[in-house]
Amino acid sequence: MINLSSLDLNNKNLVIRVDMNVPIKDGDVHDSTRIKACLPTIEYALENNAKVLLISHLGRPIEGNFEEEFSLKPVAIELSKIINMDVELIDTLESNKIFKSSSNIQVLENIRFFEGEKENSQELGYKLGSLGDIYVFDAFGTAHREQASTHAAIMNAPIACSGLLLEKEENFLSQALKKYERPYVAIIGGAKVSTKLELIKHINEVADHIIVGGGIANTFIKSSGLNVGNSLTEESMLEIAKSILDKGKIILPNRVLTSKTFEGEDTKETSIGNIGKDEMILDLYLEQETKTLINNAKTILWNGPMGVFENSLFENGTKELSKEIAKSNAFSLAGGGETLSAINKYIKSDDVSYCSTGGGAFLEFMEGKVLPSIKALNSKKIGS
Ligand code: AMP
Repeated sequence: MINLSSLDLNNKNLVIRVDMNVPIKDGDVHDSTRIKACLPTIEYALENNAKVLLISHLGRPIEGNFEEEFSLKPVAIELSKIINMDVELIDTLESNKIFKSSSNIQVLENIRFFEGEKENSQELGYKLGSLGDIYVFDAFGTAHREQASTHAAIMNAPIACSGLLLEKEENFLSQALKKYERPYVAIIGGAKVSTKLELIKHINEVADHIIVGGGIANTFIKSSGLNVGNSLTEESMLEIAKSILDKGKIILPNRVLTSKTFEGEDTKETSIGNIGKDEMILDLYLEQETKTLINNAKTILWNGPMGVFENSLFENGTKELSKEIAKSNAFSLAGGGETLSAINKYIKSDDVSYCSTGGGAFLEFMEGKVLPSIKALNSKKIGS
């Protein structure tokens, strides 16, 4: 893969695919974490005397339509404030507009407004890839999607390279995927086994212990033959859950918090062998042995909350887990939207060795898959 730092950027026009898919509330950016994650590449390009055109998607508009709700205007305004420079928003791919502004930073309107993005159109990819001298791919969060701006543009660009964020993600994620030290403890929580089955299967091959929580733990508990009442479980996953459980690496919770409703009616601390018909497991307590495993680990991978932590009544497990990870000296890697919001809520992102900006891309990378954008970048040589 060609790296940004290996190229001469002086007086070059750089088209950079970033992931600025941020939450917008009342027309303003609600959380600018993803914008800030793109800054190293943008600043590096500007310092090296290049002009920049940024491409991103935002939300899920209907392709071919301009929808105000999904405009990147608030993102361009926020970026301008953060970087303290003029940022021009443009809504066309016409060459008389692109790189012709007095501003060194332009933002192209939501790429999902342009026809052909979703189906990885070669025509759109060719246009995007030819807009500048170099196509820089830095949107790790979308690297698992084979779309025009994440795949065809890379394939069609005269020169395509990775940005600094992509490089960083690859380095840190590879450390937990290939260059890990033992003991390796994975913590997998969240709602459903089905959305993380491939990750669980892959991690079951490499990790020493897998601590499960949330709805995922419920399905494993049920597969062990215990009654979980009204808890969220997936019937279709019981058989595969049982076969994974039989490998002996899964660590189930013992003490849990149940309730009759998500609002917290009749909340009760109990053990997993004692769940009533009309009760749901909504949170767990970390056993001392589980804490010791985390403490002794040299590598920790975390994805998914331990309970319905959005409600403070059911945040204990996720909070305790965050604090244990923060205390640990292991190489710790976290990823996924809910996981990062738990980290921001209970500890600091600096307490974890690396917080990935990817959700789906993080999961697929950690399943051992080669992501389409990375595969495309790997196929490029200078001048190809
Ligand atoms: P995921 O996106 O798969 O990581 O799932 C995160 C969601 O799982 C959060 O919104 C939690 O509220 C939810 N969740 C966690 N534990 C449970 C549980 N025991 N029962 C139902 N939902 C849960």
